[in-house]
Amino acid sequence: MDKLRVGVFKFSSCDGCQAVFLDLPQLWDYLDFRYWLLGRSKRVLEPLDIAFVEGSVSTQEEAEFIREIREKTRVLVTIGACATSGGIQALRNFKNMREFTSLHPEGMFIRVLDKSTPVKEHVKVDYEIYGCPINPQILEGFIKAILYNKKPVIPDYPLCMEYKLRGNVCVMDAYSIPCLGPIVKAGCGALCPSVKRGCYGCFGPCKEPNVESLINWFKGIGLKEGDIISLFENENAYADEFRKVLEGKVEGSQD
Ligand code: SF4
Ligand code: SF4
Repeated sequence: MDKLRVGVFKFSSCDGCQAVFLDLPQLWDYLDFRYWLLGRSKRVLEPLDIAFVEGSVSTQEEAEFIREIREKTRVLVTIGACATSGGIQALRNFKNMREFTSLHPEGMFIRVLDKSTPVKEHVKVDYEIYGCPINPQILEGFIKAILYNKKPVIPDYPLCMEYKLRGNVCVMDAYSIPCLGPIVKAGCGALCPSVKRGCYGCFGPCKEPNVESLINWFKGIGLKEGDIISLFENENAYADEFRKVLEGKVEGSQD
């Protein structure tokens, strides 16, 4: 089996998602890392089979580099909430960025774009692997599918399914704990509800989420508007479905 020529790239991010490759030594014999800031010192952009891109596009340099990567790459995959939805740093997109930089004594030298944006707003993305950070098993399954020339399967069903398969009762129904489980993607094994905490959606909105219905439910247990908004102010705040809530375009109907 030929090795895949792979690049792992970091944009604005914490490095948590690219570090997940360190959890997969069983695959290293099949991957020829041509570019990987965390794992190799060589930094020459060469033609690649797959580019894994972590982080959001937050500077002009990043906006230019992602276009260069796209030109050299057969399959481009974004990994993690920063790359797929803009990350926690995209919370600034709901404010005027200049208000922040003006607070810095040398703010004029802070050179960032006004918005932190997902990679797909800049170049064509072939696959998105969600999570903050991504799940090693999902990444492993993805790479094996590519190696065996199969279509990769990335979970896009709600976290609730993963949680119920563990035999648990719903934390909202049983304990009135606010939880985004019905409208966010599975991927973590439902860690938080399993210890009676609500989920705030590390893996972003699931396929066809009924956001309005969940907001109604939150209102029904007495949550105020500010509490509901803050549930969506997370690392996936700039994903389309969450962004609409924060921009006041999706509201529940119940008072
Ligand atoms: S998605 Fe989360 S873990 Fe991954 S780079 Fe961004 S902040 Fe770090
Ligand atoms: S917040 Fe949700 S997605 Fe994140 S670890 Fe907890 S249960 Fe999983």
